[in-house]
Amino acid sequence: MTRIVILGGGIAGLTAAFRRASAGETIVLEAGPLAGGSIRTIREDGFTLECGPNTLRTTAAAERLLADLGLEPETVKADSKAPRWIVRGGSPRAVVPGPAALFNKVFTTKGKLRLLKEPFVAPRPASLEDESVHSFFARRFGEEAAVYGAGPMVSGVYAGDPRSLSMRSAFPRLWEAEGAAGSVIRGLLRKKEKKGAAAAPARHRARTLTFNGGLFALIETLQSRLSERPGFRLELNAAVVAIEGPRTPGPPGRRWTVRTADGRAFDADVLVSTLSAPADAQLLDGVLTRSAAALALLPSSPVTVVMQAYRAPASPRDAPHGFGGLIPQVEGFRSLGILYPASLFTGRAPEGFVLTTSFLGGALDRALASAPDAELLAVASAEVARFFPRLGPATRSWIARWPEAIPQLPLGHHRTLAALEQDLSALDAVAPGALHVTGGFCDGIALGERIASGETLGRTL
Ligand SMILES: Cc1cc2nc3c(=O)[nH]c(=O)nc-3n(C[C@H](O)[C@H](O)[C@H](O)COP(=O)(O)OP(=O)(O)OC[C@H]3O[C@@H](n4cnc5c(N)ncnc54)[C@H](O)[C@@H]3O)c2cc1C
Repeated sequence: MTRIVILGGGIAGLTAAFRRASAGETIVLEAGPLAGGSIRTIREDGFTLECGPNTLRTTAAAERLLADLGLEPETVKADSKAPRWIVRGGSPRAVVPGPAALFNKVFTTKGKLRLLKEPFVAPRPASLEDESVHSFFARRFGEEAAVYGAGPMVSGVYAGDPRSLSMRSAFPRLWEAEGAAGSVIRGLLRKKEKKGAAAAPARHRARTLTFNGGLFALIETLQSRLSERPGFRLELNAAVVAIEGPRTPGPPGRRWTVRTADGRAFDADVLVSTLSAPADAQLLDGVLTRSAAALALLPSSPVTVVMQAYRAPASPRDAPHGFGGLIPQVEGFRSLGILYPASLFTGRAPEGFVLTTSFLGGALDRALASAPDAELLAVASAEVARFFPRLGPATRSWIARWPEAIPQLPLGHHRTLAALEQDLSALDAVAPGALHVTGGFCDGIALGERIASGETLGRTL
């Protein structure tokens, strides 16, 4: 019976364990005192607050996971028509999802006309191997789209710098759409047609959701279902500090030995890493000979999350309404974005309260992420007040710090991933199936993608 050790008890590691296809021992080693990784929910006095991700945009794999965990009755869906707000000229302007988005007041008429010209813009030259997100959007859709569209998107998803983040690695679907059709719009339309024809009976409809108990309910349910499985163990406070192996041929169950900071050792036939790129580089440097140097240097952006509760104002027009606001860098705010959790989902705050969640720091304002609480609260409150001048002072605040929140993918990152693939294939040739690596730096950072990666991986185990 194969013994599998999974490094990291976040959503990817737990999903991989849950989806394990074969019987045998599975041990998840988690450095922290709780499983869940970036998913952390505070439940306090009727408030349900997210310290990390707030929304799960479902993939087909996520839908399957919710169904298999029996979590559907616990889901709380976001209103798909909830407006997003983008700041322009100092004030937030609504962007309503769907065709009505064309009537937004974020882009000028000239900017909108330039957007519509995208299909007629020359395709990228074959020699252009990668480019920054800003440069891609400016080339395809115009400078305004790059500043007021791509910029806030990069802040909202990656807390990153649009002028250094790799388009090819961070938004592969758009990059590939241009590559396939010479135009992003034509490429996406073509893909949609193909998908419709090929998968008509079971097309997946993405939903944006959370759960009654917040996103951590997903972790609790996974943990509880896994704990019923014979051979499953979750070891908390088990920070992996060294890995020995692979021993080829290894004695059964002892191909690898994993050592933790508190002196314990765990033997394994198969290792699954869900850790960060620098952690993989450090722990597996003997195996990742081609990729370790680049992985070791991969930065992450720090993000500090400030959650605030306010008394609901007398007029709903003065309260946060919709999904939340995104702020282009040129607008001179320090918040990357502000979410409105109690407007987005029901049941997040007791009657009479509204909530805001401000994201501070990121790749372009690293120092702010590690500022003292008082400074963070002052920045967040002042900028919420610019959005909602009639909201009184916050009645309660919570702060969550993520020093290494989101991996940043530099230009040419695809070459590092190709080198990683080569390392894993070379190892596979001598020790088949001995090592699997997944992570936001190589197969998508959104929760739906992390669940999909965990599922795909788990099914090979
Ligand atoms: C502030 C914030 C907001 C976000 N918002 C959203 C959102 O709204 N929607 C969305 O889809 N995504 C969002 N994301 C991204 C998403 O949450 C993450 O990409 C996802 O949770 C990562 O899951 P994972 O299992 O791959 O990694 P992680 O959650 O990072 O799990 C890895 C685990 O490994 C553990 N670990 C690390 N080192 C060791 C070691 N040496 N030994 C043992 N264990 C170790 C860690 O403690 C951690 O628990 C957000 C992320 C952050 C930080």
